[in-house]
Amino acid sequence: MVDFTLTDEQRALREMAHDFAANEMRPVAWDYDRDSTWPEDILRKAWELGILNTHIGEEYGGPGIDFLGGALIEEELGWGCSGIGTSIACNGLATAPIVIGGSEELKREYLSSLTEDFKLASFCLTEPDAGSDVSGMRTTAVKKGDKYVINGSKCFITNGGYADFYTVYAKTDKDAGHRGISAFVVPPEAGVVVDKKEDKMGQRASNTATITFNECEVPADNLLGEENKGFKLAMMTLDRTRPGVAAMAVGIARAAFEFATDYSKERVQFGVPIAMHQAIQFMIADMATDVEAARLLVWKSAVLLDQGRRNTLESSHAKRFAADTAMKVATDAVQVYGGYGFIKEYPVEKLMRDAKIMQLYEGTSQIQRLVIARETLLPRRVEEPAATAAA
Ligand SMILES: Cc1cc2nc3c(=O)[nH]c(=O)nc-3n(C[C@H](O)[C@H](O)[C@H](O)COP(=O)(O)OP(=O)(O)OC[C@H]3O[C@@H](n4cnc5c(N)ncnc54)[C@H](O)[C@@H]3O)c2cc1C
Repeated sequence: MVDFTLTDEQRALREMAHDFAANEMRPVAWDYDRDSTWPEDILRKAWELGILNTHIGEEYGGPGIDFLGGALIEEELGWGCSGIGTSIACNGLATAPIVIGGSEELKREYLSSLTEDFKLASFCLTEPDAGSDVSGMRTTAVKKGDKYVINGSKCFITNGGYADFYTVYAKTDKDAGHRGISAFVVPPEAGVVVDKKEDKMGQRASNTATITFNECEVPADNLLGEENKGFKLAMMTLDRTRPGVAAMAVGIARAAFEFATDYSKERVQFGVPIAMHQAIQFMIADMATDVEAARLLVWKSAVLLDQGRRNTLESSHAKRFAADTAMKVATDAVQVYGGYGFIKEYPVEKLMRDAKIMQLYEGTSQIQRLVIARETLLPRRVEEPAATAAA
C-alpha cells in the first residue's frame, strides 16, 4: 500500500528543521545574501542541532537519519535560505564517497571527525575544463610507494575555502577517460591551496572556491574504493545526494509560492486584490501543483534509497523537475509582485537568483535529461542494488 502520511518522528524532524529555518536562517538570509557573508554562526548552530551531518551513522557519532528524513530537512533549509542550506548540506555530498567506498579506518577517522567537532568537508569533482563531462579532468594522482601525489585544480567547490578535508577525484590512468578516475580523501595540510572565492549571482551565503593541489602527498590508504573506479563512486554519490538537492529546490519553490500567495491577497489593482484576477489565480494554481508534484518525486527517489533500491532514474526525475520548478515558480513569483518583485527590498528577487543554481549544480537539467533518456530508452533488465546496498 502506498501511504504518504509521515510518521510522528518524521513530522518532528520536519518541525525541528522548520523552526531552525524560520528562527535562525530567515531573519538573516537577505543580509547574508547582500553581503555574501560566510554564515559560520548558523552552520555551527546547525551542527549543534544535529542537522549538519544527518547521513552519518550512529557508529560514527551521527544521527543516522534516513534519506526521506534528510529530504524533509533539506526542503525546510531551502525554504529558509538555500545559500546557507547548500553549505549545511555539503558535508553530506563530500562524505558520501567515504560512506560508500571508504575503508573502516577512513570512516572512523573522517566521519567521526565531523560529529566530534564542528568541521566541514568539500567534494572536489569539477574542473575548469571538466564540468558535465568529468572524464576530461586533468588532475592527476600518481602512486609513489605507499603514497599518491595529487596535482591539479578544481573549481566551483562548495565550502572549499573552509573545508577541514576534501574528497578529490583525480586521474590515476590519464588515457582511460572515465575509467581512469580515482577518489581520495585529502587533508588541507597535504598542500591544498584555496585560490579564490567566487562572487555569485545567487546562494551568495554559501562559499564557492577554486582549489589547487600542489604536489599533495596522501597515504595510499586514503584511496576511496578501488583504483580507477572513482567515476562509479561519483555517480553513486550523486544518486544519493540528488533527492536532497531536489528537496532544497522544492523549499525554494514553496517559499516563492507562499510569498506570491500572500502578496496577491494584499496588493490591490483595479479595485480588487490581484488574487481576484484569474491570470494571477492560474499562476498561483500552477505553482501549487508544481510544488506538490516536485515533492512527491523527491519523496519517491528518497524512499527507494531507504529501501536499498537503485534510484538513478527517479533521482534524476526529482532533480530535473524540482530544479526547473524552483526556477519557474520563483520567476512567476516575481511576476505576481510586478515591479516590486524586481526590487531587492522585496523577498522574491533573491529566490529567483537562488533558484537558478538548482538547474546547474549536481548535474545540469540537460544532464538529468540525458540520464532520464538513457534509463528510459535502455532500461536495465535486472534491478540493480542501490548505492547503499552496493556499499
Ligand atoms: C555555486 C556552485 C556550486 C558548486 N559546487 C560544486 C561542488 O561542491 N563540487 C563540485 O565538484 N562541483 C560543484 N559545482 C560545479 C557544477 O556541478 C558544474 O558547474 C556543473 O556540473 C556544470 O558544469 P559546467 O559548469 O562546467 O558546465 P558545462 O559542462 O560546460 O555545461 C555548459 C552547458 O552545456 C550543457 N551541456 C553539457 N554537456 C551536454 C550534453 N552532453 N548534452 C546537452 N547539454 C550539455 C550543460 O547542461 C550547460 O547548459 C558547483 C557549481 C556552482 C556554480
